[in-house]
Amino acid sequence: MFVRGRGGDSTLSGRRYRLELTAEQEALCHDFGDICRAIWNTGPEQRREYRRRGVWMDYVPQTAELAEAKLDHPWLKTAPAQVLQQTLRDLDRACREHGTFKTVAALGRIAGRAADRRTDFCAYTANRITARNALVVLEDLRTRNMTASASGSLDQPGRNVRAILDKGWHKFERALRNAARHTGSQILLVNAAYTSQTCNRCGHVDAKSRKSQAAFECTACGHRDHADVNAAKNQRDAGLAFPACGDLGTSRSAKQEPISRATGRNP
Ligand SMILES: [Zn+2]
Repeated sequence: MFVRGRGGDSTLSGRRYRLELTAEQEALCHDFGDICRAIWNTGPEQRREYRRRGVWMDYVPQTAELAEAKLDHPWLKTAPAQVLQQTLRDLDRACREHGTFKTVAALGRIAGRAADRRTDFCAYTANRITARNALVVLEDLRTRNMTASASGSLDQPGRNVRAILDKGWHKFERALRNAARHTGSQILLVNAAYTSQTCNRCGHVDAKSRKSQAAFECTACGHRDHADVNAAKNQRDAGLAFPACGDLGTSRSAKQEPISRATGRNP
């Protein structure tokens, strides 16, 4: 799945979370990104509109308007209130200190705040996920590109981009482990190799089943799914197959080895 921040200066970088989420949780994460972007994009327009009518608009009334907007648009309430308020606060600072929306310096400050919001988002999401799930299965990034580099067939972001994305992923993993200490949830890392090429229905492994970045269609049984969802299901199954899963007391947060041995699916 993708979670994107507002505009080009992304609050939440376009990290693909190959994490086992319920459909509801996945939708929630999408919503957070959409909501923050909506607030960020709507805020300046609203200010300009009010100014045209001779009314001053800044953080305080805008926050009040946000509260009112939540009554009409319940979807706004999906996102944590402090994340939305921070978005308005950033907007306010940019307006007050620099007067315009095009100031490079302001954008630099906002980018700095984006890091804080990422932390908030990580912590909030990690808490929600661990509160509802006894087991959270993550792909082990060290194993992620094994198949891709071997076949050279998948689109890969550049080295620098990958480093940045991996940093965000590790941050999220740390947040999950932190939250799991309070809930007793188990965090498992599984080998991601071949999970994007393996059919979750029949177990057939074929790079050609990955029709595109987004589409999976099994060359053996015809099973179709979003490529990331199919891979995530394989990772979930690998996590569930891990022997310690029924025994949360003994190996909580233990790093876990193989998807291959767990599923017997890898070539
Ligand atoms: Zn299949």
